[in-house]
Amino acid sequence: MPIVHGWGRYPVVEAEIRSPVDPPGIAAAVKSRARPVIPRGMGRSYGDSALSDQIIDCCGLNGVSAFDFEAGLIRCGAGVTLSDLLTHSVPKGWFLPVTPGTKFVTIAGAIASDVHGKNHHLEGCFSEFVESFDLMLAGNEILTCSRHQHVDLFHATVGGMGLTGIILEATLRLKPISSTVVEQITFKARNLQEALHLFDAHEASAYSVAWIDCMVTGPAMGRALLMLGEHSEFGGLSLPDKRRISVPFDVPTQTLNRFSIKAFNWLYYHRIRQARSSQRVDCESFFYPLDGIHGWNRLYGKRGFLQYQFVVPKHAGLEGLTALLKQIVESRRGSFLAVLKLLGRANQNLLSFPIEGYTLSVDFKLEDGLFELLNELDAVVLDYGGRIYLAKDARMKEATFKRSYPRWMQFQEVRSRYGALATFSSRQAQRIGLD
Ligand SMILES: Cc1cc2nc3c(=O)[nH]c(=O)nc-3n(C[C@H](O)[C@H](O)[C@H](O)COP(=O)(O)OP(=O)(O)OC[C@H]3O[C@@H](n4cnc5c(N)ncnc54)[C@H](O)[C@@H]3O)c2cc1C
Repeated sequence: MPIVHGWGRYPVVEAEIRSPVDPPGIAAAVKSRARPVIPRGMGRSYGDSALSDQIIDCCGLNGVSAFDFEAGLIRCGAGVTLSDLLTHSVPKGWFLPVTPGTKFVTIAGAIASDVHGKNHHLEGCFSEFVESFDLMLAGNEILTCSRHQHVDLFHATVGGMGLTGIILEATLRLKPISSTVVEQITFKARNLQEALHLFDAHEASAYSVAWIDCMVTGPAMGRALLMLGEHSEFGGLSLPDKRRISVPFDVPTQTLNRFSIKAFNWLYYHRIRQARSSQRVDCESFFYPLDGIHGWNRLYGKRGFLQYQFVVPKHAGLEGLTALLKQIVESRRGSFLAVLKLLGRANQNLLSFPIEGYTLSVDFKLEDGLFELLNELDAVVLDYGGRIYLAKDARMKEATFKRSYPRWMQFQEVRSRYGALATFSSRQAQRIGLD
């Protein structure tokens, strides 16, 4: 049986994978299951949310069935990637209103994780722009879900990590743009307090994101480069033709140590000299900086890595983030890239991650003692009223999940109502008590 894993390359499981190319094929795969199944897209979730003994790979549902160029409405298969979608839509002047940091995810994966981008503080999650989707249930019935039809199922499926059924097709509302150029302003923040102040002062900017140096202690702890962005009026609508470089092998684990990581962080921070600078960049560089390095997840070596993404509510902001960052810095395990974003208000979906506050993502190479550290961090996140992002998670405990996602029981009720409980399940679902 094939070996399969998520983007973090941990955990690794043996699974039977079916790859249907149309709804009857999906129906047959669901019907003939010996055990619960989980749908899978591009496998860009980091942990075990798209892992199970039986997997239905939905990438074959990859057609665009309708595109209204006037209204910016597009109807496409669950397996269409954001990259494919942009290839269709950008030359016509339409962009994704919300996009994660990679375009190599499927529409269904983006809905199932209810992903957020660098503009959550203004635009909310991906689901804000989902008009409707067709969902195949356990008994092969297909229901159209929207804010007006099967509303309970809509709010459970969006952010529901594939546990309610299989998304077949979706209609999305796009955002008009007149150029693929982004006007970027970069600020240097000398510490975490300054970084948070800059986020708040520029709350009206369309996009904001900060890279945090998580290797430095003392008064400079949390020093950061904060990037703001606005779609430009100039430059035209052609998508940049980017060459991708590849990581051809697993980087030996000893190459990545606190000295190399510290050096990288130092260089990254000091490559910008002025306190404020402005640049014109293409949309690929602004939205998808890591997509240019094919297989960058191999940089962390054979054992893989975990991405730890948490949110702390706004009122806990500086205090909560300082407490967590201090623990991360002192552990000396921090990563190349720690990314901080501002999140706006929570939505109605039962398991969507964002709550109003700040979210930090940190990569940790998988090594002994890491789980203990992350369990300690979980406790602090919970004490401040925060939570961990399911799309990145590979190890959160059931009690942590249930305390921080208080609507999990409602979620299970909806799953039970539509017969999903014994049909759709993942390694993650079993671990966090959603089986
Ligand atoms: C470099 C990088 C940057 C990222 N940046 C961000 C970011 O900025 N913001 C953010 O929110 N996320 C981000 N992510 C996470 C990523 O957007 C999500 O994990 C997304 O869900 C991955 O989509 P996928 O197609 O790869 O789905 P998979 O990883 O294959 O699956 C993810 C979930 O979707 C479910 N699913 C897949 N297909 C279907 C279907 N047809 N029907 C129902 N459920 C389905 C699966 O069961 C699983 O639970 C990033 C990931 C990477 C690797």
